[in-house]
Amino acid sequence: MRNDDSSPPPESGSSVSPDRPWFTRRSTLVVGVAALAPAALAGWVLTQAFAGSGSDGPRPAPLPASHSALSPGQRDAKPGSTPSASASTSPSASTSPSASTSTPAAAPAPAKGPLSGRTVVVDPGHNTGNFQHTDEIDQQVDIGTARKECDTTGTTTNAGYKEADFTLDVSRRLRTALEAQGAKVVLTHQADRPWGPCITERARIGNEAKADAVVSVHADGVSAGNRGFHVILPAKVKGGSADTAKIVGPSRELGERIAGNFARTTGSAPANYLGSGTGLVVRDDLGGLNLSTQPKVFIECGNMRDAKDAAQLTSPEWRQKAAQGIADGIVGFLGG
Ligand code: ZN
Repeated sequence: MRNDDSSPPPESGSSVSPDRPWFTRRSTLVVGVAALAPAALAGWVLTQAFAGSGSDGPRPAPLPASHSALSPGQRDAKPGSTPSASASTSPSASTSPSASTSTPAAAPAPAKGPLSGRTVVVDPGHNTGNFQHTDEIDQQVDIGTARKECDTTGTTTNAGYKEADFTLDVSRRLRTALEAQGAKVVLTHQADRPWGPCITERARIGNEAKADAVVSVHADGVSAGNRGFHVILPAKVKGGSADTAKIVGPSRELGERIAGNFARTTGSAPANYLGSGTGLVVRDDLGGLNLSTQPKVFIECGNMRDAKDAAQLTSPEWRQKAAQGIADGIVGFLGG
């Protein structure tokens, strides 16, 4: 939603690096670019080439040519190896319970995999209980650079499917995918509390876990016709307890990896309403990013208020693809 912790800023263009879209940048992205299905790339081009044709309802102004056509590097990119997250066949032998040595309460040992020894914090945006606890979530909290509401309700589809239900489902699927790669995964909540947590606590959980990567899962709530996903990166901010200088760089790499893989697994295009077609937006007003000391991004998986996006967001099969794309991006970022 426009007024929530994940909503886009009124002006997004100035916050993006339009001359450095994630899909044209440095060689470390070759794997991600190569993994993009040609069909998905073709889809972007078609989508962007026909933006404004009217077949999809009202749209923002056409994107600049520099972002609506593939760069030479992209055109030359060949489909390559599947990222290790989806290619791994390492068995999780350690998850087999040992009848003689395990106590019933013992948690299964993490699987062996490229993320062994790594910690990932997954933050399901909002909480379905927030709708019944507006007084609590409206409390102002200190995000270093400003004061802001503790949390927000999130949006819904026109049919009433809550963003908070979406984010928790994708987060659980993401946890499963990451644990299969050997990661320790911490969720900031599982709707196991009546409301919240506050955005300050969401950030603190990632910090205290010394997470190698943190991703906050959301879906947007803007007018119909606005479609696609975008990843939100922390701006460089300093104020109070907020200081993102050390995480701006790694968070951008994390976000680029997630964007590329999310596009590949879901077939979704980068948002057509902000980010200049890059699927990346930088923001300085989100407490969850400003207060993070660990590499962190938000992902807005689609627009719940657009019927076509909503049809995807409400599909369990699509949510699994979304979770896999995010997981693959994290694996790529962490060098798996
Ligand atoms: Zn949200």
